[in-house]
Amino acid sequence: MTATRLAVDRRNVALATKGFMPEDEGDALWDAAVAAAARCPDAPMLEVGSYCGRSTVWLGDAAQRSGRTLFAVDHHRGSEENQSGWEHHDADVIDTRTGRMDTLPFFRAAMHDADLEASVFAVVGRSAAVAAVWTTPLALLFIDGGHGEEPARLDYEGWTPHVAPGGTLAIHDVFPDPADGGRPPYELIYRPAIESGRFEEIGVTGSLRVLRRI
Ligand code: SAH
Ligand code: MG
Repeated sequence: MTATRLAVDRRNVALATKGFMPEDEGDALWDAAVAAAARCPDAPMLEVGSYCGRSTVWLGDAAQRSGRTLFAVDHHRGSEENQSGWEHHDADVIDTRTGRMDTLPFFRAAMHDADLEASVFAVVGRSAAVAAVWTTPLALLFIDGGHGEEPARLDYEGWTPHVAPGGTLAIHDVFPDPADGGRPPYELIYRPAIESGRFEEIGVTGSLRVLRRI
């Protein structure tokens, strides 16, 4: 199984890219994306929350192999927890001209280095605003955007209706035990998805939950 996943060079780009996707969870995401593509002919994939493109390399590879495209949605200004003074801040991603975070140059470098520019399309903007005009059913939706209550709720409401029947909803940073991490991805995305009756769980790796649209 492992041998069929990312080639060494591309894996090395993923691992060298700044971000928050552990290798085993990236591989599980890749598996989920390839399987979802097989169940949903022709449908594209979409990621909410790309940051510097680390998870995007795994998903982009899965999309390319499946003959699909991946839309990578991010305003590239960082989540609350990425801002200066917060736990997940990295001063390297501050644009010195504006004093604001800008992860787009890092994202672009990662897609170039991974040779994925033909398969991965960056959509730079606020997730809810993009979701509001989105109409294409998705083979795979990966939600890893803002982890506060408001962005999590908006991502659930705005994006999950676009998962194609038989398609997959993958959610990152799902922590059922509050001691392990923040609540919104669990309480406002994962649980509502299960409780809606529209999704069933098909995989768990670390904080990654993989659900299939019924
Ligand atoms: N998937 C990445 C990590 C994503 S971090 C990895 O593998 O490393 C979360 C990202 O979500 C940040 O880049 C932030 O800019 C983005 N984000 C947060 N809220 C957003 C919103 N409302 N609209 C668009 N992007 C958002
Ligand atoms: Mg994450």
